[in-house]
Amino acid sequence: MRDNFDDAVVGGGLVGAAIAWGLARAGRRVVMLDEGDIAYRASRGNFALIWVQSKGLGMPAYAAWTRASSDAWAGFATEIEAASDVAIAHRRPGGFTLALSETELEARTGFLARLHNQPGVAALGHRVLDHAATKAMLPGIGREVAGSIYCPLDGDVNALKLFRALHVAFQRAGGAYRPNARVLRIGTRSAGGFRLEGEGGSIVEAAQLVLAAGNGNPELARQIGLEARVRPQRGQILVTEKVAPFLTYPVVNLRQTDEGGVMIGDSLEEVGFDDATSPGIGAAMARRAIRAFPHLAGLSVVRSWAALRVMSEDGFPIYDASTEAKGAYLVTCHSGVTLATAHALTLAPMIAAGRLAATLAPFSARRFHVPAR
Ligand SMILES: Cc1cc2nc3c(=O)[nH]c(=O)nc-3n(C[C@H](O)[C@H](O)[C@H](O)COP(=O)(O)OP(=O)(O)OC[C@H]3O[C@@H](n4cnc5c(N)ncnc54)[C@H](O)[C@@H]3O)c2cc1C
Repeated sequence: MRDNFDDAVVGGGLVGAAIAWGLARAGRRVVMLDEGDIAYRASRGNFALIWVQSKGLGMPAYAAWTRASSDAWAGFATEIEAASDVAIAHRRPGGFTLALSETELEARTGFLARLHNQPGVAALGHRVLDHAATKAMLPGIGREVAGSIYCPLDGDVNALKLFRALHVAFQRAGGAYRPNARVLRIGTRSAGGFRLEGEGGSIVEAAQLVLAAGNGNPELARQIGLEARVRPQRGQILVTEKVAPFLTYPVVNLRQTDEGGVMIGDSLEEVGFDDATSPGIGAAMARRAIRAFPHLAGLSVVRSWAALRVMSEDGFPIYDASTEAKGAYLVTCHSGVTLATAHALTLAPMIAAGRLAATLAPFSARRFHVPAR
C-alpha cells in the first residue's frame, strides 16, 4: 500500500505532534509516523515547565525564541483546548529558582546577569528575593532557603494532557497518525518529494519531510544530508501522593500538578541510553526538596521514572532545511513543552510555506562547523 501526503512528520513526541498539528491546521495533508511504545520518548517523562528565566546564555536568538513562545502560550492553550476538548491546565503565575545558600544565590544571580548582558536580550522583569521576600510568596519554605530568583514569565502545564490534546487536535484536523511505524529508510523521488520505508515494507510518500524523531533523528538525518548532533541525557523525577494545593508557583525543580501530586525533579545525567531509575539520585533530589519545603518529609513518593532528554551539543534547538534534499527539515530541542507554541504556530507555517525564515538561521546545525573550520 502506498500513501501520498503533503508532509510526513517522523516522530510523534511533543515536537513532532506540535509541528504536525501546526501543518494540519494550515490545511496540509499530513501523516505522523511514530515508532511505538518501546521507543525512547522524552515527551512522556518531562517536568512540564514553560520556562524562560534560564534560557539563552550563549545564544540570544534562543532567549528571544523562548520568550516569544511563552508569551504566545495562553492563546495557544485556548486554541488547542477548543480544538481537542482536552483541558491542559496551563498557568503563568511566574516561577522560582530557590537557593539553599548565599553562594547558590550569587551563582544564580551572576548567571542571569551574564544572560542579560548579551546584546539583544530583552529584560525578563526577574527579581532577586531574600528569604523573607521569598517566604511572603512561598509560605512553606524552610529556614535553609537563602533566597530565590522570581521571574514573572515562567509557568507550567499538564504535559501529558498537552501531549494528548495535540494528538487529538491533529487527528480532528484531518491528520493521519500511524503508531508502530518506525521509519527505516528515506529515499528521494525523481519527481521531487520523499519515499519513506518502514518496518514490514510499508511505504509512505510525501512532498515534504519533517524529522522530529528525538533521539532517533541522527540515524535518519544523515540519510538526507542533515545533521542531528543530539545525545540522550537522563532525567529522573519523583511524584508524591496528592495533597491539598500549597504551591501556587512552579519552582524549577519542584511543582504541584493540577491533580495535587508534587513533582520533584529532575536530574541531569550522562549515561547514554540507560533509562533506569537509581535510588541514590532519587534520594538526593528528595533531600533537596525537603530542605526547600520541610513538610514534604511527611509525604509518600508514589511514582518515579527516568526519561531521556534530547540534548544537542550546545543545548540549543536545531532547526534546519536540507540543501541536499529540498523539502526535508530537521527539528529538535530539549524544551518541547516550552516551545510547543513556537513549533505549532510559527515554525509549522514556515515549513508549510516551504522555507525557514532567516530569523531561524542561528539554529542551523551549521553552527557546529565553525570551530572545525
Ligand atoms: C526528565 C525530563 C524533563 C523535562 N522537562 C521539561 C520541561 O520542564 N519543560 C520543557 O519544555 N521540556 C522538558 N523536557 C523536554 C521535553 O519533554 C522534550 O523537549 C521533548 O519531549 C522532546 O520531544 P521530542 O518529540 O523531540 O522527542 P520524543 O518525545 O523522544 O519523541 C520522539 C518520537 O520519535 C519517535 N521515533 C524515533 N525514531 C523513529 C523512527 N525511526 N521512526 C518513527 N518514529 C521514530 C519515537 O517513537 C518518539 O515517539 C524534559 C525532558 C525530560 C526527559
